[in-house]
Amino acid sequence: AAQAARAAAEAGGGQHMFFDAAHNVQARERVLLETELRQAIQTGQLCLHYQPKVDVRSGRIVGAEALVRWSHPQRGLIPPGHFIPLAEESGLIGPLTDWVLHAACGSLRRWADAGLPELPLSVNLPASSLADERLLDQLAALMQRYRLRPSNLMLELTETMLMRDIGAAIGVLERLRDQGYGLALDDFGTGYSSLNYLKRLPVSELKIDRAFVIDVARGGRDGALAAAVITLGRELGLQVVAEGVETEEQSEFLRGRGCVLQQGYLHSRPVAQGEFEAMMRSQAASSAP
Ligand code: C2E
Ligand code: MG
Ligand code: MG
Ligand code: MG
Repeated sequence: AAQAARAAAEAGGGQHMFFDAAHNVQARERVLLETELRQAIQTGQLCLHYQPKVDVRSGRIVGAEALVRWSHPQRGLIPPGHFIPLAEESGLIGPLTDWVLHAACGSLRRWADAGLPELPLSVNLPASSLADERLLDQLAALMQRYRLRPSNLMLELTETMLMRDIGAAIGVLERLRDQGYGLALDDFGTGYSSLNYLKRLPVSELKIDRAFVIDVARGGRDGALAAAVITLGRELGLQVVAEGVETEEQSEFLRGRGCVLQQGYLHSRPVAQGEFEAMMRSQAASSAP
């Protein structure tokens, strides 16, 4: 910013003022959004949408990912990409994650009470969560309060966040795994984790990032990479899930390489709670004896 300001100053005073004004608007917008987000967390403006994870062999839903949304009174439904980074920078990510975990566990309890089949629910954890000593205690308290088992939850972490302090991360992950939580490495392939670390990470699932799925059926390099990741995951004994599957062609390619667990618009977009419950109910009905 300092460099940009200097460049603007060199280009003339007027431009400098313009730059400052634009910068100011941005900063004010941020503060406003931050204040609103704090209120949103407290007043129930957040909600979870659920995206099914499908086994393409049977076409059945075998799990789901909870994805947070902000239902803003004026701006409408705001996707997480617009407020998670802000939450991470402003210290709101802690309360936000608390809310997400409560909501996810509350839903699992609700589904169990409604007699719906038990499906593991994946929840995204922010980069800061593994550094927080309270995570294990917090999860244990949630399991007790909502009468759940750790295996009902799959915690999604990105490699970028794990690589920040790999030694500490492995320690926390091992304790989580020992407690019985599922652990998934999200956005796999977009970070910098070496294969050497991958071998040491106690995760149970690899999620192949959408970036590798996009070109998969065109015979390009991504196809080769996706195929290699699938093989790698299998060799390591991990469950491999492809993210962002949008076309039959992509789905078939991945399936042909042994990746039968898929998430993406082809199978279903993330849907609101009621719609997801209806999907589970109709699936349960179709398998009734
Ligand atoms: P992610 O965990 O990798 O989630 C997958 C994203 O891909 C979701 O975006 C989902 O809606 C989108 N997606 C799924 N299938 C398709 C497809 O076929 N095509 C395309 N183009 N997109 C697809 P969403 O919901 O906007 O979430 C974006 C990211 O925000 C997530 O990426 C995750 O990193 C983060 N996030 C979401 N919910 C939470 C949360 O509760 N806590 C935290 N800390 N982060 C979250
Ligand atoms: Mg995820
Ligand atoms: Mg992902
Ligand atoms: Mg992602």
